[in-house]
Amino acid sequence: MDRSHPTEFSDFCSTIWTERLRHFLDSRKRDLPKEHFETLREALGERFSQYQRLLLEVQSGEPRALLALHLMNEALMTVAHVKVSCASGCAGCCHLEVEITEDEAELLACAVQKGVPFDAERLSLQAKRSTNAPEWNTGAVSENRCVFLSEHNLCRVYEHRPLACRKLLVTSPKENCTLSQQSVHPVPVLEAELLLSAVLSLSNTKKGHLAAMLQNALLSDGTAS
Ligand code: SF4
Repeated sequence: MDRSHPTEFSDFCSTIWTERLRHFLDSRKRDLPKEHFETLREALGERFSQYQRLLLEVQSGEPRALLALHLMNEALMTVAHVKVSCASGCAGCCHLEVEITEDEAELLACAVQKGVPFDAERLSLQAKRSTNAPEWNTGAVSENRCVFLSEHNLCRVYEHRPLACRKLLVTSPKENCTLSQQSVHPVPVLEAELLLSAVLSLSNTKKGHLAAMLQNALLSDGTAS
């Protein structure tokens, strides 16, 4: 297991940052006096390192995926006061490309092994797509439905849904999520972006879109053929 972790901002600025975290840093760099920005950067660097240390202390696979989900739930408590429009049965974001890690794929494969239903036909079709494939930008069409989305638009792996699903909270009307992503206003959650960046930056885990990663996990444990 790789137990190295970045201790300085410069050690991880070349690693994977979520798009929102990059935008946040860019805007603060523009708006803040240099010394204030440096203070902020150091604080974020320390938090990022804390997350990586915690993640590297546990075994990869399901245990680390469960820890990351727990940490994400804690991170989201920082915006618990924000009134969001996300509600049971609205599933606009469940038609987007969802990036997950190998750890999360193992957790989802385990759910499938335990009998959670999923759309095997759609999995096989979506798994052929490349990362950032243009098909993901065609909106809330049936081909883009997540393989775990039920006919009632409920997530069949809600307790174990990936970090990327968990952290997407919006304040815009829920109808906007199925119309145009341009009119969607996500809630910025700095802690969640730092955690996800730390997860995606782990050197010993692969990442990719949900269908491809899940199919690989099912193939490697013999559930799919
Ligand atoms: S895992 Fe659940 S929350 Fe995430 S995209 Fe699929 S159905 Fe939606």
